Amino acid sequence: MPSGKEVLAVFPGSFDPITNGHLDVIRRSLSVFSELIVAVGVNPAKEPLFTGPERVAMIEELVKQWPNVRVDLFTGLTVDYVKSKNAQVILRGLRNLTDVQYEFEMALTNRAVADIETVFIMTGFRYGFTTSTLIREIGRYGGDISELIPASVYKKLQERLKEQEAQGNGDV
Ligand code: ADP
Repeated sequence: MPSGKEVLAVFPGSFDPITNGHLDVIRRSLSVFSELIVAVGVNPAKEPLFTGPERVAMIEELVKQWPNVRVDLFTGLTVDYVKSKNAQVILRGLRNLTDVQYEFEMALTNRAVADIETVFIMTGFRYGFTTSTLIREIGRYGGDISELIPASVYKKLQERLKEQEAQGNGDV
């Protein structure tokens, strides 16, 4: 969308791990924004499957095809991070109406507290039910998720799940 305006957007999320749904939103957003930062949020209260730096490395590998996409780690409030980068908007992906309910509240809150707009992009039809949580669950039980995540992520997921199983940590 040639608007004649440079727009830097931040796509915040857990990305634990990144899925083809996330990548679909990133790819689509590049027709709207001139630059994008994929911001991996580290929440000290949550025990992720992959560490922040591991998630960043996996995403970097996948987005290197797009020179105007960067990947970063952040903690704390998304709006504070967005302001620190002088970005104009937050990008979020939508899968279905359940997402809309939650995202609507977040977007209004972020506008109220920080005057930052959120732009939503609908995911590709086939990723409407892809969540990182489901990927972790289905992966754990050996289901076929190869269509839903990139091959490099699939490999890392299998390795991590095996490590956890060996440590008797399979329920985490
Ligand atoms: P969060 O914990 O912040 O929701 P996620 O990594 O789960 O982090 O998601 C980050 C963003 O990507 C959110 O806007 C979410 O709605 C979106 N998203 C997640 N999965 C998909 C998908 N399959 N298609 C499109 N957007 C998605």
